[in-house]
Amino acid sequence: MDKKLLTPGPLTTSITTKEAMLHDWGSRDQKFIDLNQSILESLVKLIDGEDSYQCVPMQGSGTFAVESMISSLTPKDAKILILINGAYGHRMKKMCSYLNRECIAYEVAEHEQHKISEVEKIIDTNKGLTHVFAVYCETTSGILNPIQEIADLVERKRLSLFVDAMSAFGALPFSSKHIKFDAVAASSNKCLEGVPGVGFILVQNNVIENAKGNSHSLSLDLYDQWQAMEKNKQWRFTPPTHVLAAFYQAIKEHKKEGGIKGRYERYSNNCKIICDGMKEMGFEQLLPDEIQAPIIITFKQPQNSNFNFQQFYDALSKKNFLIYPGKLTVADTFRIGCIGNLDEKDMRDAIQAVKEVMQELQIRIK
Ligand SMILES: *Cc1c(COP(=O)(O)O)cnc(C)c1O
Repeated sequence: MDKKLLTPGPLTTSITTKEAMLHDWGSRDQKFIDLNQSILESLVKLIDGEDSYQCVPMQGSGTFAVESMISSLTPKDAKILILINGAYGHRMKKMCSYLNRECIAYEVAEHEQHKISEVEKIIDTNKGLTHVFAVYCETTSGILNPIQEIADLVERKRLSLFVDAMSAFGALPFSSKHIKFDAVAASSNKCLEGVPGVGFILVQNNVIENAKGNSHSLSLDLYDQWQAMEKNKQWRFTPPTHVLAAFYQAIKEHKKEGGIKGRYERYSNNCKIICDGMKEMGFEQLLPDEIQAPIIITFKQPQNSNFNFQQFYDALSKKNFLIYPGKLTVADTFRIGCIGNLDEKDMRDAIQAVKEVMQELQIRIK
C-alpha cells in the first residue's frame, strides 16, 4: 500500500507498469531493441509527427532532456528569447548561461501568462533573434501557457520554437499539425505515467540533421545519440532498460485510456474535484480556472496561526497522501497534483483527508 502521490512527478504508477520492471533485458538483444523502437514510434505518433519528426531518448530526469535539447539543437551563435513565468523558464535561462548561448528573457509574474503582443514587440525590436523557448504548463504554479498563440507568432516571425512540455505531454493537446515547433522535450514519469529515468526530445528532421557539432558534451549530444540509434537501433551507452520496459507498458495503458484525450478528461475531472473540494473548505486557489492546467494546483496557505506546512504535510502523509510544497517566490503556498494513476475516488479521498487534518490541527478558514 504505497502512499498516493499528489505531486508533479514522480507519480503514482499502475501495478502493471511496476510489474513490467520484473525482468532483466539484454540491451543488445533484439527483444529490447524492438521495445525501444516501439516506444520511439509511439511518441512520434502522439504529436502526429510521422512524416517530419524524430524521437531521440535521453537518459536521466527531465532536466537532462531539456539541457540536451538546448545544447545539441541550437548553434553556438543562436540568439534566444526565453518566456519565463516560473522556475522552469528560469532553469532554461541558466542552461543558456552554462552553455554560452546568448539569450534575453521576457519574464512575467508566476500567476500571469505572457502577452502575445508584447512577445511580438520584443521579437521586432531585438533583431537577429533565432529561437524562442517556452514552457507549456509551468509546473511552478500550474499555469497553462498559450502555446498555440506563441507557436503561431513564432512561425509568423520565422523563428525556431523549442518547448519544455514536461508536465503537459500526453495529457494536453500537442499535435505538430496545429502547433509549429522545432523541438519539444518531455519525460517518462509525468503525464505518460511511467517511472522516472528517461526523457525524450521530438525534433524536426532537418533540425536534428543539422545539429552536428553543436553540443559541448558527449553524453548530452542528441545528434550523436540519434546517429548511433539510426545506425543499429541501439543506445550508445547503457540504457535504463527497466525504466524503458515500464515506459513501454505505460504507453500501452495511455493508448488504452484513449490517448491524450482520455488522459486529459481524467485529469480534468481530478482537477475539478480537488479545486471544488479545497475551495469549499475555504482554501484560495492561486490561478483562475481559465488558466489553470489540470496538472497541479497551487493553493495559498491559510492565514491561520495553526497552519504550518510541515505539520499539514505530515498529517496528510499519515493518511497516505503526499502533497507538494509551493515554489512561488511571491506568496506562501502549497501544491496538490492531480496527475498519475489516480482517479476520482482517490481525489475524493484526498479531499476527505484534508478535511480531517483541518479538524485535527484545528485550522479554521473564515
Ligand atoms: C518536471 C519538469 C521538468 C524536469 O524536471 P526533472 O526534475 O529534471 O524531471 C522540466 N520542466 C517542467 C515544466 C517540469 O514540470
